[in-house]
Amino acid sequence: MQAASAVAKLRCRSAAHTRATAARTTEGRIVSGVNILHPAAGACAEVVVVGAAVTQGVGELETIVTVGERGRILVTPCDACRRLLADHFPGLRMIIGPADDPQVVPVAEMPAAIDAAKPTDEPEIRDR
Ligand SMILES: [Zn+2]
Repeated sequence: MQAASAVAKLRCRSAAHTRATAARTTEGRIVSGVNILHPAAGACAEVVVVGAAVTQGVGELETIVTVGERGRILVTPCDACRRLLADHFPGLRMIIGPADDPQVVPVAEMPAAIDAAKPTDEPEIRDR
């Protein structure tokens, strides 16, 4: 959470970058990234982090957290990102919930990750 907040405070300084994600590998390395809001080709911060992790060859991601509002809130990854994360790192745990009472949830237990094709009632965060 500290790494994601630090990245958010440093890099989320424009309307194009509103979220920061940080992930810790099983070896303790931190991979971080911010989202890209663009009408033609945006990307969630989680996607940026998965790309960076693969690019850097850091191995297995163990824990991931996304923050918004320059680190003041935790953001639950969107359905597509949960699916992406579960497919790439089945053992990954997500830190979600209120920033003052965060929970650690295995990505495999998130409904959208288990069956992305199944419609869900849960609210989706549209701006990425
Ligand atoms: Zn997403």
